[in-house]
This record gives sequence, C-alpha cells and structure tokens, in this order.
Amino acid sequence: MKVKVKNCIQCGRLFVETAGAICPGCFHLLQEQEEQVFRFLQRNGGHGLLEQIIAATGVPKSVVIDMLKRGWFQGEYSVEYPCERCGSLISDGKLCPTCIRFVRHEVRGSANTDIVTTRKNRFHSWEDRHKKK
Ligand SMILES: [Zn+2]
Ligand SMILES: [Zn+2]
Repeated sequence: MKVKVKNCIQCGRLFVETAGAICPGCFHLLQEQEEQVFRFLQRNGGHGLLEQIIAATGVPKSVVIDMLKRGWFQGEYSVEYPCERCGSLISDGKLCPTCIRFVRHEVRGSANTDIVTTRKNRFHSWEDRHKKK
C-alpha cells in the first residue's frame, strides 16, 4: 500500500495523511492550547475576555477564535470579545445586539431608497413620454 504524505498547514512538515489538515505534532500542541484556555476559564469562574485569555495563556488568537466558532464556550463557559463594529463586549456572533439592529435597519433603509429611485425613474419616463405627445 502506498503511503500518502502531505504538508501540515500549520508547520509545513510532511506527515502521513490523516483526516486532519495538521500533523500529529501540531494536533497535540493544539489540544494542549485548548486545554490551557479551558484551565484559564475554570480559574476565572468560567468567564474571560478574549484578550485576557491570550495574554495569560500565550495561546494564539486564531486558536481561541476557532474554539469560539466551534461553539465550545457555552453553558458554564463564556468568552467575551469586542463587537466588530462598536467594540462593546459580546460573547456570541460578530456584532452586539445594538449593531445587529442597526445593520438590519440600514439594509432595510437602502432597500427603501432603491424602491423610491425606481418609482422616480418610472415617473420620469412617464412624464417624458407624456411631454413628447
Ligand atoms: Zn504541523
Ligand atoms: Zn456593536
């Protein structure tokens, strides 16, 4: 049987192909980092700020973000990080509830403008046609 090898997306080393995209060494390191994050949260009563966790554990931000995306911090654990738009602290999604409402409103607002413009254009073309007659 031919053994397939591929480069680890994390460290670039060649390794025998497995289900994951990273080599066993990086996988082990990742597991250790994830454990460090949880240990930090446990010491803090389950809560922590993203920046605080990174500073205290030395775990790369991308690893903690990935854990967040996978929904690991739920129930007894919560990690707070700044809203992408206004910077207020949230523990779910990318935006705080206020910004979500604002963005939704903005989207609806631009849709309304589109309708108004279309109506205006239609009116103009009707007017133009009327004048020509
Ligand atoms: Zn690796
Ligand atoms: Zn916000």
